[in-house]
Amino acid sequence: MTRIYLDHAATTPILPEVKAAMEPWLGAGFGNPSSLHEEGRRARAAIDEARETVSAYLGCLFAEVIFTSSGTEAANLAIVGAALANTDRSRNRVLLGATEHHCVLHTQPVLERMGYRVELIPVDRIARVRLDGLEAMMGSDVLLVSVMSANNELGTIQPVAEVADLAHRHGALFHCDAVQTLAILDFGFRILDFGCDLASFSAHKIYGPKGVGALYVKAGTKVKPLTVGGGQERELRAGTENVAGIVGFGAALGLREALRASGADSEIRGPTEPHFSRDAFLDRLVEAGFKPSVPNRADTLPGHAHVRLPGVDAETMLIRLDRMGVSASSGAACSSGSLEPSHVLLACGYSPREASEGLRFTFGRTSAIEEAEEASARVVEAGMRLTSSQGSAHPG
Ligand code: PLP
Repeated sequence: MTRIYLDHAATTPILPEVKAAMEPWLGAGFGNPSSLHEEGRRARAAIDEARETVSAYLGCLFAEVIFTSSGTEAANLAIVGAALANTDRSRNRVLLGATEHHCVLHTQPVLERMGYRVELIPVDRIARVRLDGLEAMMGSDVLLVSVMSANNELGTIQPVAEVADLAHRHGALFHCDAVQTLAILDFGFRILDFGCDLASFSAHKIYGPKGVGALYVKAGTKVKPLTVGGGQERELRAGTENVAGIVGFGAALGLREALRASGADSEIRGPTEPHFSRDAFLDRLVEAGFKPSVPNRADTLPGHAHVRLPGVDAETMLIRLDRMGVSASSGAACSSGSLEPSHVLLACGYSPREASEGLRFTFGRTSAIEEAEEASARVVEAGMRLTSSQGSAHPG
Protein backbone atom coordinates (compact mmCIF):
# COMPACT_ATOMS: atom_id res chain seq x y z
CA MET A 1 0.00 0.00 0.00
CA THR A 2 1.42 3.39 -0.92
CA ARG A 3 1.69 5.77 1.99
CA ILE A 4 0.07 9.17 1.72
CA TYR A 5 1.67 11.94 3.73
CA LEU A 6 -0.83 14.59 4.79
CA ASP A 7 1.04 16.24 7.63
CA HIS A 8 2.90 19.06 5.90
CA ALA A 9 2.05 21.49 8.71
CA ALA A 10 4.10 19.28 11.04
CA THR A 11 7.06 19.07 8.72
CA THR A 12 7.98 18.83 5.04
CA PRO A 13 10.57 16.69 3.25
CA ILE A 14 13.88 18.35 2.41
CA LEU A 15 14.07 19.12 -1.30
CA PRO A 16 16.98 17.48 -3.16
CA GLU A 17 18.32 20.92 -4.15
CA VAL A 18 18.34 21.97 -0.50
CA LYS A 19 20.19 18.82 0.54
CA ALA A 20 22.73 19.39 -2.24
CA ALA A 21 23.29 22.97 -1.09
CA MET A 22 23.87 21.78 2.49
CA GLU A 23 26.24 18.91 1.73
CA PRO A 24 29.50 20.86 1.31
CA TRP A 25 28.95 22.38 4.75
CA LEU A 26 28.70 18.96 6.32
CA GLY A 27 32.02 17.95 4.74
CA ALA A 28 34.94 20.05 3.59
CA GLY A 29 33.24 23.28 4.62
CA PHE A 30 33.52 22.50 8.31
CA GLY A 31 35.06 25.82 9.37
CA ASN A 32 33.83 27.75 12.39
CA PRO A 33 32.27 30.97 11.09
CA SER A 34 33.87 32.89 13.98
CA SER A 35 37.39 31.84 12.96
CA LEU A 36 39.56 34.33 11.15
CA HIS A 37 41.25 31.82 8.83
CA GLU A 38 40.08 30.82 5.38
CA GLU A 39 37.88 27.87 6.48
CA GLY A 40 36.13 30.17 8.94
CA ARG A 41 35.74 32.98 6.46
CA ARG A 42 34.15 30.64 3.94
CA ALA A 43 31.61 29.43 6.50
CA ARG A 44 30.86 33.05 7.46
CA ALA A 45 30.31 33.94 3.80
CA ALA A 46 27.87 31.03 3.43
CA ILE A 47 25.84 32.25 6.42
CA ASP A 48 25.89 35.80 5.07
CA GLU A 49 24.62 34.59 1.73
CA ALA A 50 21.72 32.76 3.43
CA ARG A 51 20.97 35.86 5.53
CA GLU A 52 20.93 37.88 2.33
CA THR A 53 18.38 35.48 0.79
CA VAL A 54 16.14 35.51 3.88
CA SER A 55 16.27 39.28 4.29
CA ALA A 56 15.62 39.85 0.57
CA TYR A 57 12.64 37.47 0.71
CA LEU A 58 11.18 39.22 3.74
CA GLY A 59 12.04 42.68 2.44
CA CYS A 60 14.02 43.65 5.53
CA LEU A 61 17.56 44.66 6.36
CA PHE A 62 20.33 42.07 6.36
CA ALA A 63 21.05 42.76 10.04
CA GLU A 64 17.42 42.31 11.05
CA VAL A 65 17.58 38.51 10.56
CA ILE A 66 18.83 36.43 13.49
CA PHE A 67 19.30 32.71 12.88
CA THR A 68 18.15 30.39 15.68
CA SER A 69 17.91 26.65 16.27
CA SER A 70 14.14 26.52 15.53
CA GLY A 71 10.91 28.42 15.23
CA THR A 72 10.43 27.64 18.91
CA GLU A 73 13.68 29.31 19.88
CA ALA A 74 12.87 32.30 17.68
CA ALA A 75 9.50 32.83 19.42
CA ASN A 76 11.08 32.34 22.87
CA LEU A 77 13.79 34.86 22.02
CA ALA A 78 11.24 37.35 20.73
CA ILE A 79 8.96 37.22 23.75
CA VAL A 80 11.26 36.50 26.67
CA GLY A 81 14.08 38.51 25.08
CA ALA A 82 11.83 41.57 24.74
CA ALA A 83 10.68 41.14 28.35
CA LEU A 84 14.30 40.92 29.53
CA ALA A 85 15.24 44.06 27.60
CA ASN A 86 12.30 46.08 28.89
CA THR A 87 13.40 48.81 31.27
CA ASP A 88 10.02 50.54 31.47
CA ARG A 89 8.45 48.38 34.17
CA SER A 90 5.19 50.31 33.93
CA ARG A 91 4.69 48.07 30.90
CA ASN A 92 4.17 44.86 32.82
CA ARG A 93 1.55 42.97 30.79
CA VAL A 94 2.05 40.59 27.88
CA LEU A 95 -0.88 39.47 25.73
CA LEU A 96 -0.74 36.12 23.92
CA GLY A 97 -3.35 34.68 21.55
CA ALA A 98 -5.22 31.86 23.31
CA THR A 99 -4.62 29.47 20.41
CA GLU A 100 -0.93 30.17 19.86
CA HIS A 101 1.57 27.36 19.46
CA HIS A 102 3.05 26.16 22.75
CA CYS A 103 6.35 27.83 21.88
CA VAL A 104 4.50 31.09 22.57
CA LEU A 105 2.04 29.96 25.26
CA HIS A 106 4.68 28.25 27.38
CA THR A 107 6.56 31.52 27.81
CA GLN A 108 3.81 32.42 30.30
CA PRO A 109 5.36 30.90 33.45
CA VAL A 110 8.77 32.30 32.49
CA LEU A 111 7.31 35.79 32.09
CA GLU A 112 5.35 35.46 35.32
CA ARG A 113 8.52 34.56 37.22
CA MET A 114 9.97 37.78 35.82
CA GLY A 115 7.05 39.73 37.32
CA TYR A 116 4.92 40.16 34.17
CA ARG A 117 1.18 39.56 33.99
CA VAL A 118 0.25 37.37 31.06
CA GLU A 119 -3.25 37.39 29.61
CA LEU A 120 -4.72 35.31 26.80
CA ILE A 121 -6.51 37.05 23.95
CA PRO A 122 -9.88 35.35 23.30
CA VAL A 123 -10.62 33.72 19.95
CA ASP A 124 -13.80 32.94 18.06
CA ARG A 125 -15.14 29.52 17.07
CA ILE A 126 -12.52 29.14 14.30
CA ALA A 127 -9.54 30.24 16.44
CA ARG A 128 -9.37 33.76 15.01
CA VAL A 129 -8.35 36.32 17.63
CA ARG A 130 -11.19 38.59 18.61
CA LEU A 131 -10.19 42.15 17.82
CA ASP A 132 -12.86 43.54 20.14
CA GLY A 133 -11.46 41.35 22.92
CA LEU A 134 -7.94 42.53 22.23
CA GLU A 135 -9.01 46.16 22.06
CA ALA A 136 -10.64 45.87 25.50
CA MET A 137 -7.45 44.37 26.92
CA MET A 138 -5.03 46.93 25.46
CA GLY A 139 -3.56 49.69 27.58
CA SER A 140 -0.39 51.68 28.10
CA ASP A 141 0.87 48.94 30.44
CA VAL A 142 1.13 46.31 27.66
CA LEU A 143 4.68 45.53 26.63
CA LEU A 144 4.04 43.03 23.86
CA VAL A 145 1.26 41.33 21.92
CA SER A 146 1.91 37.97 20.24
CA VAL A 147 -0.45 36.57 17.61
CA MET A 148 0.42 34.03 14.95
CA SER A 149 -0.05 34.56 11.19
CA ALA A 150 -2.15 31.41 10.86
CA ASN A 151 -3.15 28.73 13.32
CA ASN A 152 -1.18 25.53 12.92
CA GLU A 153 -4.11 23.26 13.85
CA LEU A 154 -7.12 24.76 12.10
CA GLY A 155 -5.17 26.77 9.53
CA THR A 156 -7.15 29.92 10.37
CA ILE A 157 -5.58 33.07 8.94
CA GLN A 158 -5.29 35.78 11.56
CA PRO A 159 -5.99 39.50 11.13
CA VAL A 160 -2.29 40.28 11.58
CA ALA A 161 -2.34 43.87 10.30
CA GLU A 162 -5.23 44.81 12.60
CA VAL A 163 -3.57 43.21 15.62
CA ALA A 164 -0.27 44.97 14.88
CA ASP A 165 -2.10 48.26 14.52
CA LEU A 166 -3.90 47.85 17.86
CA ALA A 167 -0.63 46.96 19.61
CA HIS A 168 1.18 49.94 18.09
CA ARG A 169 -1.60 52.39 18.94
CA HIS A 170 -0.88 51.60 22.59
CA GLY A 171 2.89 51.70 22.20
CA ALA A 172 3.27 47.91 22.55
CA LEU A 173 5.51 45.63 20.52
CA PHE A 174 4.00 43.11 18.13
CA HIS A 175 5.43 39.63 17.65
CA CYS A 176 4.06 37.33 14.97
CA ASP A 177 4.74 33.59 14.93
CA ALA A 178 4.80 33.32 11.15
CA VAL A 179 6.02 29.72 11.02
CA GLN A 180 2.95 28.37 9.21
CA THR A 181 2.79 30.94 6.44
CA LEU A 182 6.36 31.32 5.22
CA ALA A 183 5.77 28.73 2.49
CA ILE A 184 2.62 30.35 1.16
CA LEU A 185 3.60 32.04 -2.07
CA ASP A 186 2.30 35.58 -2.46
CA PHE A 187 1.73 35.81 1.31
CA GLY A 188 4.64 34.44 3.31
CA PHE A 189 7.01 37.14 2.18
CA ARG A 190 4.53 39.93 2.95
CA ILE A 191 4.28 39.30 6.65
CA LEU A 192 6.49 42.22 7.62
CA ASP A 193 4.27 44.62 5.64
CA PHE A 194 1.59 44.01 8.28
CA GLY A 195 3.66 45.76 10.93
CA CYS A 196 5.71 43.19 12.86
CA ASP A 197 8.40 44.30 15.29
CA LEU A 198 9.40 40.68 15.75
CA ALA A 199 8.52 37.64 13.61
CA SER A 200 9.47 33.98 13.91
CA PHE A 201 10.15 31.50 11.12
CA SER A 202 11.24 27.88 10.75
CA ALA A 203 13.03 26.12 7.88
CA HIS A 204 11.50 22.66 8.09
CA LYS A 205 8.02 23.86 7.18
CA ILE A 206 9.29 25.10 3.82
CA TYR A 207 11.13 21.99 2.57
CA GLY A 208 14.29 22.94 4.43
CA PRO A 209 16.12 21.21 7.31
CA LYS A 210 14.93 20.76 10.87
CA GLY A 211 16.68 22.56 13.69
CA VAL A 212 16.94 25.98 12.01
CA GLY A 213 14.78 29.01 12.47
CA ALA A 214 15.02 32.75 12.19
CA LEU A 215 13.81 35.74 14.12
CA TYR A 216 13.17 39.04 12.43
CA VAL A 217 14.04 41.87 14.82
CA LYS A 218 13.03 45.26 13.46
CA ALA A 219 15.91 47.74 13.72
CA GLY A 220 15.68 49.55 17.04
CA THR A 221 13.62 46.85 18.80
CA LYS A 222 15.21 45.98 22.13
CA VAL A 223 15.77 42.29 22.75
CA LYS A 224 18.18 40.55 25.15
CA PRO A 225 19.71 37.14 24.36
CA LEU A 226 18.58 33.93 26.03
CA THR A 227 21.90 32.21 25.41
CA VAL A 228 25.11 33.93 26.42
CA GLY A 229 28.76 33.15 25.95
CA GLY A 230 29.56 34.19 22.39
CA GLY A 231 28.86 37.22 20.29
CA GLN A 232 27.18 35.36 17.44
CA GLU A 233 24.11 36.68 15.66
CA ARG A 234 24.69 40.28 16.68
CA GLU A 235 25.05 39.19 20.30
CA LEU A 236 21.47 37.94 20.32
CA ARG A 237 22.08 34.22 20.06
CA ALA A 238 25.33 32.88 21.45
CA GLY A 239 26.57 29.54 20.11
CA THR A 240 28.42 28.39 17.02
CA GLU A 241 26.04 28.61 14.09
CA ASN A 242 24.52 25.57 12.35
CA VAL A 243 26.18 26.46 9.05
CA ALA A 244 24.71 23.61 6.95
CA GLY A 245 21.25 24.19 8.42
CA ILE A 246 21.37 27.92 7.78
CA VAL A 247 22.56 27.34 4.21
CA GLY A 248 19.67 24.87 3.80
CA PHE A 249 17.20 27.47 5.08
CA GLY A 250 18.52 29.99 2.57
CA ALA A 251 18.35 27.45 -0.25
CA ALA A 252 14.77 26.44 0.61
CA LEU A 253 13.64 30.05 0.70
CA GLY A 254 15.53 30.81 -2.52
CA LEU A 255 13.56 28.03 -4.20
CA ARG A 256 10.26 29.42 -2.89
CA GLU A 257 11.20 32.82 -4.27
CA ALA A 258 12.13 31.34 -7.66
CA LEU A 259 8.75 29.58 -7.80
CA ARG A 260 6.92 32.74 -6.85
CA ALA A 261 8.77 34.79 -9.42
CA SER A 262 8.16 32.20 -12.15
CA GLY A 263 4.40 32.28 -11.50
CA ALA A 264 4.22 28.46 -11.36
CA ASP A 265 0.52 27.86 -11.00
CA SER A 266 0.76 24.33 -9.65
CA GLU A 267 1.86 25.85 -6.36
CA ILE A 268 -0.08 27.09 -3.40
CA ARG A 269 -0.05 30.79 -4.12
CA GLY A 270 -2.12 32.77 -1.70
CA PRO A 271 -4.19 32.23 1.39
CA THR A 272 -7.44 32.69 -0.47
CA GLU A 273 -6.56 30.55 -3.49
CA PRO A 274 -8.22 27.16 -3.65
CA HIS A 275 -6.04 24.10 -3.24
CA PHE A 276 -7.67 21.53 -5.51
CA SER A 277 -6.37 18.44 -3.72
CA ARG A 278 -7.40 19.79 -0.32
CA ASP A 279 -10.81 20.81 -1.64
CA ALA A 280 -11.54 17.45 -3.26
CA PHE A 281 -10.48 15.69 -0.07
CA LEU A 282 -12.55 17.90 2.19
CA ASP A 283 -15.64 17.66 -0.06
CA ARG A 284 -15.58 13.88 0.22
CA LEU A 285 -15.14 13.92 4.00
CA VAL A 286 -17.95 16.41 4.56
CA GLU A 287 -20.24 14.33 2.34
CA ALA A 288 -19.43 11.37 4.60
CA GLY A 289 -20.40 13.14 7.81
CA PHE A 290 -17.11 14.62 9.00
CA LYS A 291 -17.54 18.12 10.45
CA PRO A 292 -15.21 20.81 9.09
CA SER A 293 -13.90 23.00 11.91
CA VAL A 294 -13.68 26.04 9.64
CA PRO A 295 -16.81 26.18 7.48
CA ASN A 296 -15.52 28.86 5.11
CA ARG A 297 -12.38 27.55 3.43
CA ALA A 298 -11.21 31.03 2.51
CA ASP A 299 -10.60 31.58 6.23
CA THR A 300 -7.88 28.93 6.31
CA LEU A 301 -4.53 28.26 4.75
CA PRO A 302 -5.00 26.57 1.41
CA GLY A 303 -3.33 23.31 2.42
CA HIS A 304 -5.24 22.78 5.68
CA ALA A 305 -8.23 20.49 6.24
CA HIS A 306 -9.36 20.21 9.86
CA VAL A 307 -12.35 18.04 10.71
CA ARG A 308 -13.97 16.10 13.53
CA LEU A 309 -15.89 12.88 13.33
CA PRO A 310 -18.31 13.22 16.25
CA GLY A 311 -17.99 10.33 18.67
CA VAL A 312 -14.62 9.18 17.34
CA ASP A 313 -11.55 10.11 19.19
CA ALA A 314 -8.61 11.45 17.21
CA GLU A 315 -6.06 9.12 18.69
CA THR A 316 -7.96 5.97 17.69
CA MET A 317 -8.57 7.40 14.24
CA LEU A 318 -4.96 8.41 13.70
CA ILE A 319 -3.65 4.99 14.71
CA ARG A 320 -6.13 3.37 12.33
CA LEU A 321 -5.17 5.74 9.53
CA ASP A 322 -1.49 5.15 10.08
CA ARG A 323 -2.12 1.42 9.60
CA MET A 324 -4.04 2.25 6.44
CA GLY A 325 -1.08 4.24 5.11
CA VAL A 326 -2.30 7.79 5.79
CA SER A 327 -0.11 10.09 7.89
CA ALA A 328 -2.12 12.83 9.56
CA SER A 329 -2.23 14.43 12.97
CA SER A 330 -4.55 16.02 15.45
CA GLY A 331 -2.36 19.00 16.19
CA ALA A 332 -2.97 18.22 19.86
CA ALA A 333 -0.07 17.65 22.19
CA CYS A 334 1.01 14.15 23.02
CA SER A 335 1.98 13.60 26.62
CA SER A 336 2.81 10.27 28.25
CA GLY A 337 1.78 8.37 25.15
CA SER A 338 -1.77 9.66 24.79
CA LEU A 339 -3.30 12.71 23.15
CA GLU A 340 -4.51 15.56 25.32
CA PRO A 341 -7.61 17.44 24.15
CA SER A 342 -6.51 20.21 21.79
CA HIS A 343 -5.92 23.50 23.59
CA VAL A 344 -6.93 25.21 20.35
CA LEU A 345 -10.34 23.56 20.17
CA LEU A 346 -10.90 24.12 23.90
CA ALA A 347 -10.18 27.84 23.46
CA CYS A 348 -12.65 27.87 20.54
CA GLY A 349 -15.36 26.70 22.93
CA TYR A 350 -15.47 22.97 22.18
CA SER A 351 -16.05 20.52 25.05
CA PRO A 352 -13.08 18.38 26.17
CA ARG A 353 -14.69 15.40 24.42
CA GLU A 354 -15.04 17.32 21.14
CA ALA A 355 -11.55 18.77 21.56
CA SER A 356 -10.23 15.19 21.48
CA GLU A 357 -11.78 14.55 18.07
CA GLY A 358 -9.83 17.03 15.92
CA LEU A 359 -8.12 15.62 12.83
CA ARG A 360 -5.71 17.70 10.79
CA PHE A 361 -4.75 16.82 7.21
CA THR A 362 -2.28 19.19 5.61
CA PHE A 363 -1.41 19.17 1.93
CA GLY A 364 1.89 20.12 0.41
CA ARG A 365 3.37 21.03 -2.94
CA THR A 366 3.40 17.44 -4.16
CA SER A 367 -0.01 16.35 -2.87
CA ALA A 368 -1.68 15.34 -6.13
CA ILE A 369 -5.42 15.15 -6.65
CA GLU A 370 -5.25 11.33 -7.09
CA GLU A 371 -3.57 11.08 -3.71
CA ALA A 372 -6.26 13.28 -2.17
CA GLU A 373 -8.96 11.04 -3.61
CA GLU A 374 -7.30 7.86 -2.39
CA ALA A 375 -6.69 9.41 1.05
CA SER A 376 -10.31 10.51 1.37
CA ALA A 377 -11.49 6.97 0.53
CA ARG A 378 -9.23 5.56 3.26
CA VAL A 379 -10.31 8.17 5.81
CA VAL A 380 -14.00 7.59 5.11
CA GLU A 381 -13.50 3.83 5.39
CA ALA A 382 -11.65 4.22 8.71
CA GLY A 383 -14.45 6.47 9.94
CA MET A 384 -17.10 3.92 8.95
CA ARG A 385 -15.31 1.09 10.72
CA LEU A 386 -14.82 3.11 13.88
CA THR A 387 -18.33 4.51 14.07
CA SER A 388 -19.84 1.06 13.54
CA SER A 389 -17.59 -0.46 16.19
CA GLN A 390 -18.54 2.36 18.58
CA GLY A 391 -22.25 2.22 17.70
CA SER A 392 -22.47 5.83 16.41
CA ALA A 393 -24.13 6.94 13.22
CA HIS A 394 -22.34 5.73 10.09
CA PRO A 395 -20.57 8.23 7.94
CA GLY A 396 -21.54 7.20 4.41
N1 PLP B 1 4.97 27.90 15.59
C1 PLP B 1 4.08 27.22 14.84
C2 PLP B 1 2.81 27.90 14.46
C3 PLP B 1 4.35 25.91 14.44
O1 PLP B 1 3.46 25.26 13.71
C4 PLP B 1 5.57 25.33 14.82
C5 PLP B 1 5.90 23.93 14.46
O2 PLP B 1 5.11 23.03 14.62
C6 PLP B 1 6.47 26.08 15.59
C7 PLP B 1 6.14 27.36 15.95
C8 PLP B 1 7.77 25.51 16.06
O3 PLP B 1 8.74 25.50 15.05
P1 PLP B 1 9.99 24.51 15.23
O4 PLP B 1 9.51 23.13 14.96
O5 PLP B 1 11.00 24.97 14.23
O6 PLP B 1 10.47 24.67 16.62
